[in-house]
Amino acid sequence: MGSTGSIGKNTLEVVAGLPGRLHLAGICAHKNVEAVVQQARQYNPDIVVVTDPVAAEKISTQDLPRGCQLWKGQDGALRLARSKEVDLVVSAVVGAAGLEGTWAALESGKTIALANKETLVVAGQLVMELAQKNNTAILPVDSEHSAIFQALQGSAKDAVEKVILTGSGGPFRGLKAAQLQQVTPEQALRHPTWKMGPKITIDSATLMNKALELIEARWLFALKAEQIGVILHPESVVHSFVEFRDGSVLAQASPPDMRLPIQYALTYPERLPGPTRRMNWGELRSWNFELPDEETFISLELGREVARRGGTCGAVLNAANETAVASFLAGEMAFLDIALACKKVLEHHDFSPSPALAELQRSDQWARQEVERWKTQKNRMAVSR
Ligand code: NDP
Ligand code: MG
Repeated sequence: MGSTGSIGKNTLEVVAGLPGRLHLAGICAHKNVEAVVQQARQYNPDIVVVTDPVAAEKISTQDLPRGCQLWKGQDGALRLARSKEVDLVVSAVVGAAGLEGTWAALESGKTIALANKETLVVAGQLVMELAQKNNTAILPVDSEHSAIFQALQGSAKDAVEKVILTGSGGPFRGLKAAQLQQVTPEQALRHPTWKMGPKITIDSATLMNKALELIEARWLFALKAEQIGVILHPESVVHSFVEFRDGSVLAQASPPDMRLPIQYALTYPERLPGPTRRMNWGELRSWNFELPDEETFISLELGREVARRGGTCGAVLNAANETAVASFLAGEMAFLDIALACKKVLEHHDFSPSPALAELQRSDQWARQEVERWKTQKNRMAVSR
């Protein structure tokens, strides 16, 4: 799900690199018809799905290799996620839009390789309960969570004292609020170490990505917010740490390349030869670590608060962030206002501690409208001043 995105493309490379081991049952795109047609020709899936109704009008079976079926709309994606031919679903749609497909796959007992962290941010409790009920695994693709998952192999859950998520710090590490007033989307999209889709790249620049990852880790590994730390590591080579109760710390390290965690999720528990560049031990001199500047980057505390409180908080924070990021990319919101808008909306939302899916969807809608309202009000005040 999300084959035309950054994770989707990396996933297809991994699958193609393991012929005979993995079979590509289907690929799902949303709007990018040109890319999905090219992917179908290159990788030969059994089924292609285009979910966006307008985009789906621009593609026909004739565009696809012989024998490849074309399914359309969100129903097509859900049908593929539930299909008997599918064992494992790579959840790589961006945003809360990824929840429905992940949910359908879990309901049908599929293993999930989870890149779409928003699924756990929005509905972590319900999603983990569903996975447990259906006895299915959610294997992390997010590099930090894959690192933790790898470091946990062979250890009892209660042996973990805490985990430390590493983060590059994004393009604005070291800058203060005064220097971030005029940041443009172009500057924020220039990530120093990772090549990713636009939404997560902005999330990395605001450190909201680390906040979302904190919440993701809270659900994925059943940790308390207090057990999850964050440290900046500009080289992006150490992908996270696990500290055990005997004082031992295990880390996973590799050059930054998402194909490694993707392949690990697809072949778990095996480790197979992979395309990732090797560490260059001859050149390696130092790895740097520093604490994040939480006064400038206020997102982290929001993530901690949401991980602590749970309930509707995750759906609200995620929706507020998605809306604010889209506004920033459209030139309608200042960089620092992304996290500020999230904070405001989170502060005055109507909290519910154990919401059902429908209530989470209402919280999501409410938060999107609130950010729009906040933005309009702020922009109007700026004009009248
Ligand atoms: P991209 O923006 O590169 O790709 C997004 C994908 O989602 C595209 O295939 C797009 O389809 C599809 N999509 C967008 N909107 C919808 C929708 N409403 N319904 C269905 N499909 C939709 O994102 P990334 O690959 O960077 O990120 C995907 C997920 O993985 C995110 O949750 C991100 O946080 C997570 N992740 C990404 C990492 C990375 O390295 N990129 C690292 C760790 C996590 P189309 O293009 O056809 O419209
Ligand atoms: Mg990550």
